[in-house]
Amino acid sequence: MRSVKIILCILITSVCAPAQSVSSPAPAQSPIQALAKAKRIVIAVSTVLDGKGHVLHNTRIVIEGSKIVALDPKAGPVDYDLRGLTVLPGWIDAHVHITWSFGKDGKNAGSGETTPEAAYRAASNAWLTLMAGFTTVQSVGSPTDVPLREAIAKGTLPGPRLLTAVEPLTGRGDRTGTPDEIRAYVRKQKEAGADLIKIFASQSIRQGGGMTLSQEQLNAACDEAKKQGLRTLVHAYKGAVRAATLAGCTEIEHGTMASDDDLKLMAEKGTYLDPQAGLVIENYLLNKEKYLGTPGYTAEGFAAMEKVLSLNHELVQRASKIPGLKIVFGTDAVAGAHGRNAEEFIDRVRDGGVDPMAAMVSANSSGAEAMGLADQIGSVAPGLQADIIALEGDPLKDITAVRRVVFVMKGGVVYKNAARGAIPVYAGVQP
Ligand SMILES: [Zn+2]
Repeated sequence: MRSVKIILCILITSVCAPAQSVSSPAPAQSPIQALAKAKRIVIAVSTVLDGKGHVLHNTRIVIEGSKIVALDPKAGPVDYDLRGLTVLPGWIDAHVHITWSFGKDGKNAGSGETTPEAAYRAASNAWLTLMAGFTTVQSVGSPTDVPLREAIAKGTLPGPRLLTAVEPLTGRGDRTGTPDEIRAYVRKQKEAGADLIKIFASQSIRQGGGMTLSQEQLNAACDEAKKQGLRTLVHAYKGAVRAATLAGCTEIEHGTMASDDDLKLMAEKGTYLDPQAGLVIENYLLNKEKYLGTPGYTAEGFAAMEKVLSLNHELVQRASKIPGLKIVFGTDAVAGAHGRNAEEFIDRVRDGGVDPMAAMVSANSSGAEAMGLADQIGSVAPGLQADIIALEGDPLKDITAVRRVVFVMKGGVVYKNAARGAIPVYAGVQP
């Protein structure tokens, strides 16, 4: 078996670097943090998918601290030799539930558990996700995301850059509240540290997917979020897709049974679509016994999901043909799916007929743009964060290459280096 060297490197970026004070001793800074800050790294590459749909050949990526500073074929000395691999920006998953895990009894524990065990399981999910090549994920959402987000941002736990919705706005018909109450709820999430607002405008597809928020309620939610400088991700099926689009919300999650006219309207209004071609339902079916009987998961629900899988394939097929429709990559990863996020690429290409390059771009520059982070992540270019991964094989020819992530760097720190022939120099931990 290939020797796999995985290093936990801890990085504190300049943003969260501890402030020095005369009266109190400087907070301890680990040698790893100091190293990561000062380090200049050169990576030799033969094939780079730049995240925007271009392929670059035979160059070197120069990194200083957490950022890419140049692409220069003459740069040296080379610290990592990733020639022969396919190099691309770290992937972005727009829709995960990072804290969902299976509990002690083996059953789905959702995100409600707040035991130390549940916290460790969430940390483990974050680690698995990062190792799978996902350097940024959006968790939508749970209040337990917040401490995990902080720990990862500080560099005290390894994981993808985490954005969270904190608590979602759940539509329950009339009981959801007046527009003013909804606006107050949105502001409350912002105060609690939300990076975005998650809104449920439809029932679960397991219950039929009917609409749970009125147009007026959706208008209030998405308008208030905009006023607060926050994006809105709306869980929507069927008619709720059009309503959320008309309300000016940022992104539609799932979108199953949206009509071509709905999708065209989204393209016109610049609303992002985050459809799921397979992983989420495949994962439920694979782990059926672990979900069955836990809140929201009935035998009837499972029967409904089996039917939805083909509807989802069909949605992805149709959506990718709508001119101008902006499609991002989101898996809806729940317990059992963390670390397997890349399976969704395979589903999109194999079952959704998506062009492999478009699938890659959806999880790179399009994903970054939808998050308002295009100037920081999502492509291999000077000035951007050094989020760089490498695959064995060429995903443009064989999409299953996405399963073979052998190198992961996030913000200039190498977390995984199992590449053939790579020079074993790690940004941080000494052997
Ligand atoms: Zn979800």
